[in-house]
Amino acid sequence: MILESFPVGPLQCNCTILGDEASGEAMVVDPGDNIPQILAFLEKHRLKLKQIVVTHGHIDHVGGAARLKKATGAPVLLNQNDLPLLKMMDVQAAWLGLAPPEVAPPDASAEDGMTAGIAGHTATVIHTPGHTQGSICLHFAPEKLLLAGDTLFAGSIGRTDLPGGDSRQIIRSINDRLLVLPDETYVIPGHGRVTTIGEERETNPFLQAR
Ligand SMILES: [Zn+2]
Repeated sequence: MILESFPVGPLQCNCTILGDEASGEAMVVDPGDNIPQILAFLEKHRLKLKQIVVTHGHIDHVGGAARLKKATGAPVLLNQNDLPLLKMMDVQAAWLGLAPPEVAPPDASAEDGMTAGIAGHTATVIHTPGHTQGSICLHFAPEKLLLAGDTLFAGSIGRTDLPGGDSRQIIRSINDRLLVLPDETYVIPGHGRVTTIGEERETNPFLQAR
């Protein structure tokens, strides 16, 4: 398995590329920006992009998805509950003082329980509303890997003060859907350093008052 994660754009969203050497297939999660860098990585490893998954509709995660799709033809998955956020991309861009990126409706909604991924590496979509109503995580069970978007961070959780945020709901999503995963699950959050489910269960201050 080829696994690469690097921060993109002014908000340093972690973009993750997962590739399979045998099939030559790849998926990209949260191409918020730096599309030339993503394309160069795919080319370097001779990977064909099969799928683009966006964990939620915030500009720093979805901002480059339409450009990446245009360059590769790969379909974009985004949970339908975040379509209102896509429609207000100009407002999101104004929050950050950026020019609004080109956006396009997703090709399919990333729904809870659905399978995503590529040959040899499939993930289950876990709907984890709270940061936004359409926030999802991707769980690669055999790889013990979770791409957590902005739901769970190392030592923190996603903010809930933006449109669609709900502070009780995000805690419920994390407790009921993420902390039930094996302790050794490697977590790549939407921002910041990697962690594990066990470390967050033990030490995350937002998850202790239960
Ligand atoms: Zn976000």
